[in-house]
Amino acid sequence: MSFSSNVKEEISQRFGNARHCNIAELAALLNICGYIGRFGEKFCVKIQTDNSVVARKYFTLVQKAFKINCNVTVRRNRFHHSNSTYILTVTKKADVEKILTATGILLEKENKICNHCYAPTIYSVCCKRAYIRGAFLAAGSMNDPQKNYHLEFVYAQQKKAQGLKEILHTFGLEAKMIKRKGHFVLYLKEGEQIADILNIMQAHSALLELENVRVVKDMRNHVNRKVNCETANLNKTVAASVKQLEDIQYIKSQKAWENLPKNLLQTAQLRLQYPEASLKELGLLVHPPVGKSGINHRLKKISDIAEKMRKDKGDFVWRKKQ
Ligand SMILES: [Zn+2]
Repeated sequence: MSFSSNVKEEISQRFGNARHCNIAELAALLNICGYIGRFGEKFCVKIQTDNSVVARKYFTLVQKAFKINCNVTVRRNRFHHSNSTYILTVTKKADVEKILTATGILLEKENKICNHCYAPTIYSVCCKRAYIRGAFLAAGSMNDPQKNYHLEFVYAQQKKAQGLKEILHTFGLEAKMIKRKGHFVLYLKEGEQIADILNIMQAHSALLELENVRVVKDMRNHVNRKVNCETANLNKTVAASVKQLEDIQYIKSQKAWENLPKNLLQTAQLRLQYPEASLKELGLLVHPPVGKSGINHRLKKISDIAEKMRKDKGDFVWRKKQ
């Protein structure tokens, strides 16, 4: 099972505490995969979905909120027997009216179907949470956080997508909308926001899994940053050391070695012996020990001497100062 279907499986088992929340979730499902048929004065409410989890949730919500049993038809796919289409209908006039009025789809006063309205009945936080849960069940998907952080809702109508965007906004979730293949896609890309929405939908197991992935990813990034930084420093140390070794070897080859002052000679010898040592380590090796800047100063002097000797093309023999 994909991460997305695990989330759906989990939230399909979550129900609001009150009837209004169940109605709000029902409104979300009807908005996305519902069909409202009208034959003269008669209405029919139908949802059609390939997802058994959505079908089961819809059936239960209608049961819980209205004590109505939907008629269920399962249509097997002729080519892929594992794929089925679930059709749930309510045709009894009184029942249809109950569902459509409660979800705000049928405007009672005008006796007409409000097609674009996403859920006028949603005012409280509990109902908004339930609505988001329903929307995710019917139109949502999420990538495995191991790969990347991405959660989206796909809507056929812009107005409905906009409606959900506004509800998400009341929770501080800033979903972006793009058009893709004639559909309107609302998406979240930040780990933090995806964690928030999983929490809002009460997908607690999925949230825990996401948080584990985030902790590991953060740690990995931190370690990588640290290693990169240390590697850069190490490269600098190595480059400096290579230059020092060249200079020391040059002085040695020019037979000016014995003429170096005692402290410089000792430092040069140690550098040859410990080419990978840092300045600090080198400082601790000399007698008596000196600090990092002291060693740096000595090495700089050695390099200056080498430079001067190179300039004089080796004719110059550096003399010890008396
Ligand atoms: Zn509620």
